[in-house]
Amino acid sequence: MNFLNEVTHRYPETISFAPGRPYDGFFEVEQIFTHIRRYLRHLEEQGASPAEIRDTLFQYGPTGGRIRELIADSLRKDENIDVPPEAVVVTVGCQEAMFLALRALVSMPEDVLLVSSPCYPGITGAARILGFEPTPVPERAAGFHCADLQTALAAERARGRRPRAFYVVPDHSNPSGNTMSLEERHSLLELADREDILVLEDSPYRLVSPGQQVPTLKSLDRYRRVVHLGSYSKTLFPGARVGFAVADQHVVDREGNAGLLADELTKLKSMVTVNTSPLAQAVVGGMLLAADGRTSDLNAETSAHYGAAMKAVLKELDANFPERDRAALGVRWNEPGGGFFLGVDVPFRADNAALVRSAEEYGVVWTPMSYFHPQGGGERSLRLSISYLTHDDIVEGIARLARFIRAEAPGGD
Ligand code: PMP
Repeated sequence: MNFLNEVTHRYPETISFAPGRPYDGFFEVEQIFTHIRRYLRHLEEQGASPAEIRDTLFQYGPTGGRIRELIADSLRKDENIDVPPEAVVVTVGCQEAMFLALRALVSMPEDVLLVSSPCYPGITGAARILGFEPTPVPERAAGFHCADLQTALAAERARGRRPRAFYVVPDHSNPSGNTMSLEERHSLLELADREDILVLEDSPYRLVSPGQQVPTLKSLDRYRRVVHLGSYSKTLFPGARVGFAVADQHVVDREGNAGLLADELTKLKSMVTVNTSPLAQAVVGGMLLAADGRTSDLNAETSAHYGAAMKAVLKELDANFPERDRAALGVRWNEPGGGFFLGVDVPFRADNAALVRSAEEYGVVWTPMSYFHPQGGGERSLRLSISYLTHDDIVEGIARLARFIRAEAPGGD
């Protein structure tokens, strides 16, 4: 990723399909103040005194977070996830939620985390900081397949290891853009119960994607197998660094005390970030109040924007690679329903050297898909990230990319 930043920096005139940044055309600075005021009014309505309100902003806060009720309420309305506020831990972005979940679940040398692969590097990086390597479960062209997880679990157990959890981005995945079908979700939950593992569900893109969404794993979870890792980075704003974990599993700690997994995560958080910034929670709390918990409504315009960007990319790919020469060239892409990422298979090694040629000679940057494979793979594939580009950039960028791919193809021009 550092290399990618360096290339983008070295060739500033390029059109970049690399960063997964949310589009910021809908952000307005003044909104931040409005939302904080909205949250303070809420505290007042709840009977807080001026001194309590002052402390809420200025002081350290409870480790589990101040806006757990608002998040639980929003999850009920937006996602049909029904959990008590105590099951929610407010974190510094989803990244901290991942870190805490891994620290709580993977503690013995034989413990294993499995990840759907290609995979978001935030989870692989967190695992590595904690001193272990996750086991990849390769996605097929159409996405994750339960049978492959079953095979990987059996292989791990045969090696004397103890599978603990499986991490997956079921909706509009980063990096592939794939979405898991409803049938596969049901199968995964049954498999998790049968195999006695947890599922770490990370789904930051679903409420900024157009159309009807497939239900979250957590809303379908009848066996308390799912720890839902939440992020407001795409739905509200990334700079707030507010995310959360929903962990309603009953556990017994080392001293024999019964509680929720959320309590364990909170204990760990007290030694990692102490609490999530109360000011950031106030802004996010105000946004949730303003939308009456429905971040999906808040994002209707944003989702439409991303959906239109994806349509434009697919249209330009179609136009630049007519169906008749696609197979001959060996170029293929998926058609995600979301608006952030898609994968393109190419007939050459899409490595760092190719990336430099693409930037230098064709003025277009993308991310090698191999960056997202924890243990090799994706060498002939690239990720396009389209959330941040204008329509004109998309048209020009795909034309440049097509020229590059044609030139690199064996026997290409
Ligand atoms: N999970 C996935 C799949 C992501 O793509 C991202 C952001 N790129 C995150 C988590 C990070 O979320 P946050 O900003 O809340 O830490």
